[in-house]
Amino acid sequence: DTVIEAKKVSKWYGAFRALTDINLTVRKGERVVICGPSGSGKSTLIRCFNRLEAHQEGEITVNGIRLHSKMRDVAEVRKNVGMVFQHFNLFPHMTVLMNCMAAPMWIKGVPEAEARKLAIKFLERVHIPEQANKYPAQLSGGQQQRVAIARSLCMEPAVMLFDEPTSSLDPEMVAEVLDTMTSLARDGMTMVCVTHEMGFARSVADRVVFMDAGLIVEENKPHDFFTNP
Ligand code: ADP
Ligand code: ADP
Repeated sequence: DTVIEAKKVSKWYGAFRALTDINLTVRKGERVVICGPSGSGKSTLIRCFNRLEAHQEGEITVNGIRLHSKMRDVAEVRKNVGMVFQHFNLFPHMTVLMNCMAAPMWIKGVPEAEARKLAIKFLERVHIPEQANKYPAQLSGGQQQRVAIARSLCMEPAVMLFDEPTSSLDPEMVAEVLDTMTSLARDGMTMVCVTHEMGFARSVADRVVFMDAGLIVEENKPHDFFTNP
């Protein structure tokens, strides 16, 4: 029931070593929060999990797919891994509904009627079905981020990666996105979240991983993590 397994993973950007000997296992249904200072390699690590970045040493396996330098089918990995970014990256010229339908139709070949049903289901899941026919620019930041979450869910991924999903939001919109993430966690979604939201980590995470300078320096249950000096 292992969804992500990283063994002794290292990554360099040129001569700069961004990740050093990372070992991390994420099991089905687990919620892992990664925190640590800016530049510590959090984003790089989770980007390696869906092959937005390539690691150079060690092994990463995602939902049974081994990620390696000669792999041809990156799309196969991305089908299994949903990702939500700090910036929402919605297609500006498409309605909310089409943003959600596009990947299932184009990447998975899901028929249009079925893709529409999926999109409506997951827009309801993030509590914005009434925004379906609007364009991203007509939505608040919090709503756009919830569309980005719904869009990822429409691919029915084995795991969801979140890269500081609330960092670019106005303060009053942070809670609605964290509530959506908390509700996904309650439903048993496997999640890896890079976030500075320690309240979220404390209430939702099964494990908190602390990174510094490209290393995992601590890995703990939230209770231990927050009570240790
Ligand atoms: P974090 O997510 O913890 O803020 P990152 O993974 O974004 O950290 O970055 C880790 C380090 O790698 C930083 O020093 C950053 O400047 C560097 N880095 C990230 N992306 C690149 C890149 N494409 N080229 C060179 N260096 C990079
Ligand atoms: P974000 O906080 O949205 O991840 P960043 O500023 O960390 O934004 O990174 C934006 C982009 O710039 C990423 O694609 C990252 O890989 C790249 N990047 C980050 N640091 C460096 C760096 N030192 N040199 C080159 N590219 C970098």
